[in-house]
Amino acid sequence: MDVRAHMSMLFHLDKCIGCHTCSIACKNLWTDRKGAEYMWWNNVETRPGMGYPTGWEDQEHYRGGWKRTQPGAIELRLHTRPQGLANLFYNPALPSLEDYYEPFTFRYEDLFNAPESDDQPTARPVSMITGEPIQIEAGPNWDDDLSGSNLYAKNDPNLKGLPAEVQAQLHEIERVVMNYLPRICNHCLNPACVAACPSGAIYKRAEDGVVLVNENKCKAWRMCVAACPYKKVYYNWATGKSEKCILCFPRLETGQAPACAHSCVGRIRYMGVLLYDADRIPEAATVPDDELVDAQLEAILDPFDPEVIAAARANGIDDAWIEAAQRSPVYHFLKTWGLALPLHPEYRTMAMMFYIPPLSPVVSVVEQGLVKLDLPPERVDFELFHRLDTARMPLEYLANLFAAGDAERIRRILRKMLAVRIYKRRESVDGAVDAATLELVREAGLSPEAVEAIYRLTTQPTLEERFVLPPYHREQAIEAWNDPLEHKGTTGLGFLQPPKRGE
Ligand code: SF4
Ligand code: SF4
Repeated sequence: MDVRAHMSMLFHLDKCIGCHTCSIACKNLWTDRKGAEYMWWNNVETRPGMGYPTGWEDQEHYRGGWKRTQPGAIELRLHTRPQGLANLFYNPALPSLEDYYEPFTFRYEDLFNAPESDDQPTARPVSMITGEPIQIEAGPNWDDDLSGSNLYAKNDPNLKGLPAEVQAQLHEIERVVMNYLPRICNHCLNPACVAACPSGAIYKRAEDGVVLVNENKCKAWRMCVAACPYKKVYYNWATGKSEKCILCFPRLETGQAPACAHSCVGRIRYMGVLLYDADRIPEAATVPDDELVDAQLEAILDPFDPEVIAAARANGIDDAWIEAAQRSPVYHFLKTWGLALPLHPEYRTMAMMFYIPPLSPVVSVVEQGLVKLDLPPERVDFELFHRLDTARMPLEYLANLFAAGDAERIRRILRKMLAVRIYKRRESVDGAVDAATLELVREAGLSPEAVEAIYRLTTQPTLEERFVLPPYHREQAIEAWNDPLEHKGTTGLGFLQPPKRGE
C-alpha cells in the first residue's frame, strides 16, 4: 500500500445558482493578463448544453483521455508514441479559436471622449486580437440558461445513446429543466495531460496531488491541450506556454481555500484531504467502464483504518494531514454517505474533483394555466421517492455525466438526497418523524444520524467545516528538493534562481 494525500474539491450541484462568481474570482486572480484572455480555469456551464470549449465532451472529435485497448491496458486516445512523433509539429485534435471564442473588450474611452450630441454614446466591442470592432458571436457561457434550445441543449454530447423518448423529455417545453455544472481542472490521478507532454513539463505534486505545468520546461507542443478530455489546459499565445488551474496552491499553502471555492455564493464547494493508494491506480484505470467508479472509490482509503494510518505515516504524511483526512467533508460525502461521483469516469483519468448530482423537479402537469404535481398531496413525498424515473432531468442523462452510463448509481444517490429532504420536512413541519419515513430512510441506505449529518453539512456548514485545510509544512516539502544550507548564502538577495557562473 503506497498511501498518498490529495487535496480534493467537491461540488454540491443542488446548490449551484449559476452566478459565475467563482469564474470571476479565478479570472481576476490568475488569468487577467495578456495571452490568457480566453482562459477560464473555472467555468460554469448550463446543462444540458454544449459547454466550454464548445462540445468538449465529444471525444470522437477532440480525442481526449484514455481508451481501453484490452483487459488491463489503456492508451491515450490522442495518439500512440509513433503517431505522436509524426504529429509533433501538427496536432490535428486541438480546439480552434471558434471552439473557444474571439476575446473581446469594449472601447470604454468612447463613453468619455464622445463629442456632445443628442445620442447616448456607446462602448463598441473590439477584438482583443486585432483591435478591430467585432460582432460578438460567442463567449465562455454563451448558452447560459438556454436549456431546451435547439442550438445548445439538443447538441449536448451526453444525449448520445439516450432513448428518443428520454431525449424528447428534455426538450418538451413545459418540462424544460437545467442545472449548472461548475468545472475546474480535476487534478486527476491518471492525468492524460501529463502522459501526453513530450517535454515532461507537467507533473503532479507529491504532497497534495496538484497538477502543474513547469513553465520553464514547456515547449508549446500543446499535446496536453488536446489530451485533456476536460479541456482544462490552455495555450498562452503571448508567452508560448501552456497554463492550467493550479488549485490556488499558493492560497492552500497559506491556509486559504481556492478563490473559486472561497467566493462561492451558493456555498456549494467543499475541500478536504483524501488518502489514496497509488499502487491501485494502474488497475483502477483499466477496469471495464461499469467498474470504473467502484475501482476509483476503492483506491480512496479509509483514514480511520489503523493500517492506512500506519502506511501514511511510513510515507511521511504528517499527522495533521491524516487528521484532516478524517474530518474531510469530501471524504464523508464521497465514501461515508456515497453521494458523490467524478465527472465522466469513462475518460479514465481518475478525476479527483467530485460532484453530488442535482435533484431535479419532478414531473408536473399544467391545469388551468397553473403548474401542479399530478399526485394527490398526501402521497406526494412517498410517491416522489419511487418516481425518480419521471424526474425532469432524466437519470440516464445524469448517468452519462457522472457514472459512465450507470443510471442505477444515480438513482441510489438521488434516493438518499430525497430521503434527507423528506425526513427533515417531517421533522420540521409535522414535528415528528413517523415510522414510514424512517423506513424510507433505511430503504435509501441511510440512518437518522447520517441524515442529520448530511443535512447539517449541506445546509449550515461553517467555513471551517466546508474547507478542512491542513498545514502545508512548506519547509519540509522544500527541504525534500533543495538543501537549505545551499540557499543560506542567498538569503536576503531575493533570488528565486541564483545566477550561475558562465550562464
Ligand atoms: S483535468 Fe487537469 S489533470 Fe486531468 S487531464 Fe485535464 S488538465 Fe490534466
Ligand atoms: S460561485 Fe458557486 S454558486 Fe455561483 S456559479 Fe460558482 S459554483 Fe455556482
